[in-house]
Amino acid sequence: MSPSTLAGAASAWIGLGANLGDARTALQNALRALAALPGSRLVQVSSLYRSAPVDAGGPDYLNVVAELQTALAPLDLLHALQAIELAAGRERPYRNAPRTLDLDLLLYGEQSIDGAELTVPHPRMWQRAFVLLPLAELRPGWVTPAQLQAVAAQAIERVDAPADWAG
Ligand code: ATP
Ligand code: CA
Ligand code: CA
Repeated sequence: MSPSTLAGAASAWIGLGANLGDARTALQNALRALAALPGSRLVQVSSLYRSAPVDAGGPDYLNVVAELQTALAPLDLLHALQAIELAAGRERPYRNAPRTLDLDLLLYGEQSIDGAELTVPHPRMWQRAFVLLPLAELRPGWVTPAQLQAVAAQAIERVDAPADWAG
């Protein structure tokens, strides 16, 4: 049984996206993999959203945001996210290429990190409706009306409530 609180754990917010193959199943599998990470507990998951690719062609994306309570340090968590992407068949042929799975570390507690491998908060999260809408659903106070207004032109729709897709 996973403990309801983890000693020394931080609240990490992860943006999940997929637009190749069976994207819904890829996101479901990714959530299971996140929940199985050492010292980690999946706290909550947003609704499922569908969004048009930004600065790229290819099929629409499915996106969700999840909160993970984790004792993993930020870089260890990033490497774990990359391992999950790799296991899902992620390739990086070119920038913004379609992908079977993308896991971005959006926020890690209240930490600001500016490293060679990892920048937190994720530097582009405030420009993206597919991050802000699901985040605002889970943490309304974190996203201002002005921030939502700034991404209002981006094509996105809510597809399913959490219970209907994440099970
Ligand atoms: P974007 O970062 O604009 O969403 P992307 O997700 O397509 O683009 P990737 O190819 O998945 O970009 O990642 C490129 C690099 O970004 C990774 O190798 C990783 O080291 C780095 N990176 C820096 N900060 C983060 C972060 N907060 N979350 C995930 N990766 C990050
Ligand atoms: Ca990304
Ligand atoms: Ca990424």
